[in-house]
Amino acid sequence: MNENMRAASKALAQVTLKHLRDNGFAADYFETAKDALAFLKELIPAGSSVGFGGSETLKETGILDWLGESTQYTVYDRYHTDDVKKVFHQCLDADYYLMSSNAVMVDGHLYNVDNTGNRVAALAYGPEHVIIVAGTNKLVRNIEEAVIRNEDIAAPANNIRLNRPNPCTMTGSCAHCSSPTTLCNQLVMTRRSNPAGRIHVLLINEVLGY
Ligand code: SF4
Repeated sequence: MNENMRAASKALAQVTLKHLRDNGFAADYFETAKDALAFLKELIPAGSSVGFGGSETLKETGILDWLGESTQYTVYDRYHTDDVKKVFHQCLDADYYLMSSNAVMVDGHLYNVDNTGNRVAALAYGPEHVIIVAGTNKLVRNIEEAVIRNEDIAAPANNIRLNRPNPCTMTGSCAHCSSPTTLCNQLVMTRRSNPAGRIHVLLINEVLGY
């Protein structure tokens, strides 16, 4: 990222962190994914069970590799199982749940769109500790921009990744389809963290995921 862009996105991240904290989220800033990974290694106690949602950000930050190699955690790994439905349910009862967010609003809320709903279920009423890992490319001003970001960026890219025959893969933006193969079944805004601190947002000043 260009030096001036980095400074601008850092400033925007600081404003976002304040608003997230005002809304009951724990929130921290990191210059790099490497710094965030080091923080996570200290944060999650040995012996914990850890689940995670589908996320390019978790891959790009090295978090999934770290969890995959870990011997100190019980990891509910959706990518290495014959029974993904069972893993989704185990994740709901894990000590920690890691995911990204389709958008992080500067006014201090989160926005996520899910297919099966396993990820937003864990976020809303799952593990006692939910950790959101997001690059500053996910920052948007408000719910209106969050919806647009998903429709123009996150959802088309995700549909392409999963090879879904939906209109957005042809045009690069959402056509509000009702296709049986749509990935857009649950649209969830998280306005606050309750209990306070249950949801912990790690904002990284890098372009990560989509
Ligand atoms: S609603 Fe349909 S067209 Fe819109 S992003 Fe989702 S899958 Fe694509």
